[in-house]
Amino acid sequence: MAVIGIMSALHEELAAVLADMPDEQRVVVAGRDFWVGHWQGHAVVAVLSRIGKVAAATTATVMLERFGVDALVFTGVAGGLGSGVRVGDVVVADGFVQHDMDASPLFPRHEVPLYGRALFEVDAVLSLQLAKAAQQVLQAAEQHLGPDTLAQFQLSSPKVHQGLIVSGDRFVATSSESQALREALPAALAVEMEGAAVAQVCWDYGVPFAAVRTISDRADDTAHTDFNRFICEVASRYSRAILLQWLRERAPI
Ligand code: SAH
Repeated sequence: MAVIGIMSALHEELAAVLADMPDEQRVVVAGRDFWVGHWQGHAVVAVLSRIGKVAAATTATVMLERFGVDALVFTGVAGGLGSGVRVGDVVVADGFVQHDMDASPLFPRHEVPLYGRALFEVDAVLSLQLAKAAQQVLQAAEQHLGPDTLAQFQLSSPKVHQGLIVSGDRFVATSSESQALREALPAALAVEMEGAAVAQVCWDYGVPFAAVRTISDRADDTAHTDFNRFICEVASRYSRAILLQWLRERAPI
């Protein structure tokens, strides 16, 4: 049976996944807890990614080397950069760039040296499946979150976007920084701290990868406001619901 790797960027997301796995067993590797079990009839390994590119790359490498996962799906939150990418929306990545990679003038800005590329694309089929699942969940957002939560966070008709996500080892929390990112990488829809590293590891191993991020902030001067409450009450519920919907539709192979 194909084994699906699920990486959660946030504790609360992982807790929601584990609550749905009836038989998970903990295996500790590299100081990380990997949870091996089943979800919706699929063989699954779930883990917390940890924060930042290096930590997430180590976690992904163990997933692929030690647990031999056949596909890797990554969830978390991100700051919205693209116009119209609002708090409460979901971005399904079609590719990742490290916004803080800069070996110029030796290599073009953002290019990862010796790879000959800046952009690491995700698996198109997996991403399409996740985008479809996200669409279904957001259409029923009220059912997943409750009307009070929608009102509290002023979420009205949340949308699913597909496009570029950029990653770097920095929580982007000023308008000047997010504006600089928009200028450097105009196609970027969202910014976070892990995805590009995991995309690169999966590219190295040739393992299908996809990622879904709920927009928690606009990467501006108010980026930290209500961050923790948003994660508990919105992002972790969306992540669980999107993964559940995706696994239900995906026949175990
Ligand atoms: N409270 C969390 C820490 C979150 S760190 C904990 O204890 O686990 C920030 C996380 O949110 C990272 O996973 C990062 O990828 C994502 N993120 C959300 N908004 C971001 C922004 N504006 N800039 C960079 N990363 C952001």
